[in-house]
Order: sequence, then C-alpha cells, then structure tokens
Amino acid sequence: MRADSNGADGAGRFAPSPSGDLHIGNVRTGILAYLWARRTGRRFLWRNEDLDRVRAGAAERQREQFLALGVRIDGEVVDQSRRTAAYAAACERLREGGLVYECYCSRKDILAAPSAPHAPPGAYPGTCRDLGEQQRTEARARLAAQGRTPALRLRSDGAECRVDDVVLGEVSAHVDDLVLRRGDGVWAYNLAVVVDDAAMGVDQVVRGDDLASSAPRQAYLAGLLDLSVPQYVHVPLVLGPTGQRLAKRDGAVTLEQLAGTGFDLWAWMGESLGFGPWTGLDEALESFDPARMRHEPTVFDPSTGR
Ligand code: GLU
Repeated sequence: MRADSNGADGAGRFAPSPSGDLHIGNVRTGILAYLWARRTGRRFLWRNEDLDRVRAGAAERQREQFLALGVRIDGEVVDQSRRTAAYAAACERLREGGLVYECYCSRKDILAAPSAPHAPPGAYPGTCRDLGEQQRTEARARLAAQGRTPALRLRSDGAECRVDDVVLGEVSAHVDDLVLRRGDGVWAYNLAVVVDDAAMGVDQVVRGDDLASSAPRQAYLAGLLDLSVPQYVHVPLVLGPTGQRLAKRDGAVTLEQLAGTGFDLWAWMGESLGFGPWTGLDEALESFDPARMRHEPTVFDPSTGR
C-alpha cells in the first residue's frame, strides 16, 4: 500500500451528532473518513457534535462501535459542548470587524418575508440587517416579552463562494447572512465546525454529500476568521428504498438492529463502494483507493438486507 504523503502533518476526522445510534450509512461515512485519512498519511480525530439534540449515552455508543470495528482514534476526543468559549471568541472577532448583527426574526417571519432579488430559495431576506438602534431596541424588547433572545447573523457580502471538492469537483453556493448563534443561544453548526476543524488541525473533511452545499459557506467563514480551508471530500450517501437518505424509519438500519440478521457490514461496505466484499478493516485499508471509489449513491433496503 502506498499512502501519498501530502497529509503528513494533517488530520481527517469524523464528527457525528450524538442524537441516537448511527445507521449503516453513517457508519460507512465514518469508515470512509478513516480510510481516506490513513491512505493519505493523516491522523484520524473524533469530534462529538453535542451542541443540541443529544441522546444520553449515544456519543459513547457511537465511539465504541467504531473502536469495535478496529478504528484507532488519535488524540483526545473533542466535545463541542466544551468549546463554547472558542465559538464566542470567533464571533467576537467577526463582531469587531462589523460582521455580526442581531436578528429578531422567527422562522415564520423569514418564510413570510419577500426574498431578496437574486437570492436562492431559503436565503435570509435581510430583514434585520440594516435596522436602526431605535428599531433594534424595540425588537429586542418585543422578543424579551416572549421570553426569546435575538439570534446573531453574519453580515456576508452575498457573494458566490466556491470550493474544490475531491469527489464532486467544483461546488459553489451563494453565501447568505447565515446564523452564527441561534435565538436559543446555541452556537450554529457552520461556525462551530469551522472553528473546531481549524483548532484540531483538520485539513481533510470527509463527510456525506448532503453537507456539500455547506462547504462554500464554511470556507467563506474560515476566510473571514483567517483560518485555512480544509480539503473537502463529500462522499455519496446511502439511500433508503424510497430513494431518500437512509433513515431510522426505513426499518432495521443500525448495527444493533441488524445484528443476527446475517448482514455483513464489511462485505456490504466494500461492495457498495465498488471494491468487492471486505472482510474487515485491515483488508479495507489495503484495498481502498480514493481514485476508484464508486461515486453513485447506494440504495439499502432493510427488508431484504441489501
Ligand atoms: N455532525 C454532522 C452530522 O452528524 C457532521 C458535521 C460535519 O462533518 O461537518 O451530520
């Protein structure tokens, strides 16, 4: 096996949200992050994205499953719930640069507002971007009366931002005024990911391609914070029988649910990625070749186990 050495000081990572047990699609993505990191000479780090939707015990179970599969995690596991000071510092830095404003909109307000010209669907229409002090004081009081606090948004320049993805090629998206801190005080995913990947020395992000459209915004944020942009590798998803992203409602999809059914995780992973059946992690490390990975999504039907 020949690992290219350009990742010598770098690291890849897996960053699951501990909202429940991982299904086999999530497991395959995590294993791909591991294989990709090792094949390119990188360390493999683990981050627990536990800022919200935490199910008790899920983070430990997710990690134990990977360790049981033979994965070796380098360094300390990072819990996002212990990193809020770093997110606050990054946000403060943006604020000092005049790039943060309070937003008083509810989800309903945003849906009801006419969208800005040329903005893609779902983009923030900019309602609170240019309010005067008087209007802000009133809006703040209105929210406080409802027991709510304002969200913080990035004052973006509305530009198109582009990243080069190893699998997908060029991915571009219009960067809108994304949320940095939610109205409930929880730091937003996009800010936390950018701050953490940089702090952990992650220079390779392998994750499901449902997150590909977040990459340009994350790269944009990294640029504003003077952080380097990692290499992005968005890998194909596992879909359920209806063609949607595989989900718990599709049936038996977690390793625990599939135990005793004859389902062979390693064989399925190797085959579904175009390498033929694997027998375990060692063989996967031998046979995995980034250039030969299948790019099409895989359909998994829990009723047939394939
Ligand atoms: N926590 C996210 C998830 O479980 C992944 C975030 C990322 O890899 O950037 O979907």
